[in-house]
Amino acid sequence: MVRFTVLASGSKGNSSIVSSCPSGDGQCTKILVDAGLSCRELFRRMRLVGEDPATLDAILITHEHQDHINGLAATARKLGIPVYFTEATHRAWVRQVTPKKRITYADWAAQYRAGKLAAAAGPHPDPNPMPDPEPDPAPEPDPVPDPMPMVSQASGDGLCTIAPEGGVEEESCDGPDPVPDPSRLPAVNYFRPGQAFSIGDVSISPFTIPHDAADPVGFVFSAEGVRLAVATDLGYMPPNVQAQLRRCDLIMLESNHDLEMLRDGPYPWSVKQRVLSRVGHLSNDATAQYLEQIYDGTATHLILAHLSESNNMPELARLAAERALNSKPSLLANRLHLATQHEPLASVCF
Ligand SMILES: [Zn+2]
Ligand SMILES: [Zn+2]
Repeated sequence: MVRFTVLASGSKGNSSIVSSCPSGDGQCTKILVDAGLSCRELFRRMRLVGEDPATLDAILITHEHQDHINGLAATARKLGIPVYFTEATHRAWVRQVTPKKRITYADWAAQYRAGKLAAAAGPHPDPNPMPDPEPDPAPEPDPVPDPMPMVSQASGDGLCTIAPEGGVEEESCDGPDPVPDPSRLPAVNYFRPGQAFSIGDVSISPFTIPHDAADPVGFVFSAEGVRLAVATDLGYMPPNVQAQLRRCDLIMLESNHDLEMLRDGPYPWSVKQRVLSRVGHLSNDATAQYLEQIYDGTATHLILAHLSESNNMPELARLAAERALNSKPSLLANRLHLATQHEPLASVCF
């Protein structure tokens, strides 16, 4: 059985699980795709959907934006499992989590005064001139800030539920404090876009997506004759992505924003430009246009994902996609699901 579960999707955290248990003897391959929630919340949601975190085999990362890597280090260390990145994404992540050397103005001033006094008191020049203060960098704004809560929409035919055993208890992910090297991971494996690789029984084809990160990718997973595609965080649908999404049984596709809500909404102009750009996010209209004009109709399950809470409403995303699917009789059998930020979507099983 192949099982796909979205644990969370949106600008506050993205994470899904692909699991393949081909023989029915309990030998499964389980892969976490992105770790955008805290380790504790990831574990809580996994237990909610009946997945034991201890059975995960690996973590795959699409790109280094915070909503995809927030709980990565803690989760990988806690479980002792390898993380798969492109090399450029790994480097970008290491830069992101490595603390920068900083000195506060008060410390600098104290050192400067002490140096002045020493210089005035003695005939020798100060052998240790004070360093220039390095100003604290401004915190990077969340690229897609989303303050509003969202209504959950999960359920439907073709979904499978596995009840958690013995309830869902809180589990600590805290390791030794402080962590000596925040970029330390149990193991790192590099993949390249366009070059398929395997983890256990699952074959993975990573493909480049147009997005403003170091080396962002989407994935097609193949196991037991089933093909699942994950394509979120992309500014438009280039031909290579269209090709990857052919002949899939399940597609998780971004439907990030409603164009009017984004234009009239609260984001600063620069962020609006970023979201709308060729390396930003797919709008409801862009996704609908893909479904109507390019999509081959083979996916029995379509999951709309990475919905903005500030610039979209689940009803708008659903309506746009439904209009597109209803425009062709061949697409009427496709089941539409909406992934949400605040709770897992019921698993889809094949
Ligand atoms: Zn992103
Ligand atoms: Zn994202």
